Amino acid sequence: MKDTLMNTYNRLPVSFARGEGLYLYDDQGKSYLDAIAGIAVCSLGHAHPAVTRAICEQAGKLVHTSNLYGIEKQQQLGAQLVALADMDKVFFANSGAEANEAAIKLARLHGHAKGIDNPVILVMEESFHGRTMATLTATGNRKVQAGFEPLVQGFARVPYGDPEALQTAAANLKDIVAVLVEPVQGEGGVNIPPEDYLPGIRALCDEHDWLMMLDEIQTGMGRTGKAFAFQHHNLQPDVLTLAKALGNGMPIGACLARGKAAELFGPGNHGSTFGGNPLACAAALAVVDTMKAENIWDKAARAGKRLHQALADRLADADGVTEIRSLGLMLGIQLDRPCGELVLQALEKQLLINVTADSVVRLLPPLIIEDEQIDDLADKLSSLILEFLEARQ
Ligand SMILES: *Cc1c(COP(=O)(O)O)cnc(C)c1O
Repeated sequence: MKDTLMNTYNRLPVSFARGEGLYLYDDQGKSYLDAIAGIAVCSLGHAHPAVTRAICEQAGKLVHTSNLYGIEKQQQLGAQLVALADMDKVFFANSGAEANEAAIKLARLHGHAKGIDNPVILVMEESFHGRTMATLTATGNRKVQAGFEPLVQGFARVPYGDPEALQTAAANLKDIVAVLVEPVQGEGGVNIPPEDYLPGIRALCDEHDWLMMLDEIQTGMGRTGKAFAFQHHNLQPDVLTLAKALGNGMPIGACLARGKAAELFGPGNHGSTFGGNPLACAAALAVVDTMKAENIWDKAARAGKRLHQALADRLADADGVTEIRSLGLMLGIQLDRPCGELVLQALEKQLLINVTADSVVRLLPPLIIEDEQIDDLADKLSSLILEFLEARQ
């Protein structure tokens, strides 16, 4: 068959016919242990019965009406998320990038309300915020931006995890209105900032009347061992963006806001045809219900510790492994050399992993992973890494 798809992905030589829990099955029926979960999306595992049921029931009743009318499931989901995150209001979109677009627009409205004509949002090096023009501009990776100039105005960049760089920016840059930051950088290599980093940003935002905007598209919905990564600290953001695991695979994004940030949008200044449609919201409601009922965040915290320890034990003598970083079930194994080829080698061993930032093996398994599967994953992956380091020294 002629390949009619635009050349945006180097796809691996496999496609899957079905999934169940931690496993995906190809068209030959061969099973694969999925330690990436569709890039932190299928946190409840593949074909979770409660989510499947919610989708089927809703699809049989009503898929879409548009935001011209009231959408009960959207109201219900909004109430659940606002309560879970202790925020005030929510705007529903269809993806992470769109959730961040809403956040960026809130920051600009916040600036204009203060009389700032050219508001600036502080963003970080090594960050990832999406592929739309504004979000790729916010992203701290030249590869994502190259060829798409002119970029969007109104962003300034500082190193990640560096509170002093933020202080310097605050002292030297005019017209800052917000900070947009990931609590743990995902695509950037599972980079975990110092303990006092987010509280420091909160204090700086309070001092200068900036919006603290957290991109929890990857870290949110239990991934790091709390419902949201900011809950590892005693603070609240002004704006919070979610997507990935929110629908367990049904496309949905959300931008939550608190306090005066929650009152900035008015009718006509933002919108989405599909955003928060009944089908997407039914799926996300089932996700939130299931996660709450199963206390999935506590499970993720425990499972994450076990996985980290299991890998640390098995890789203790591997010189090429310079660091293992994790928070909950977001885990990065830093190697001392580029290791992209590990992805294909793992695939051949029926294991799905990801490599990001050239030399970081990233694991984002479903949060429902059991102890036995954790040990199996650690066994398979550590032997692969040890073989790889052996062959490439
Ligand atoms: C995946 C991701 C995005 C972009 O989400 P899309 O749904 O691909 O637009 C934005 N921010 C972070 C932190 C992400 O991990």
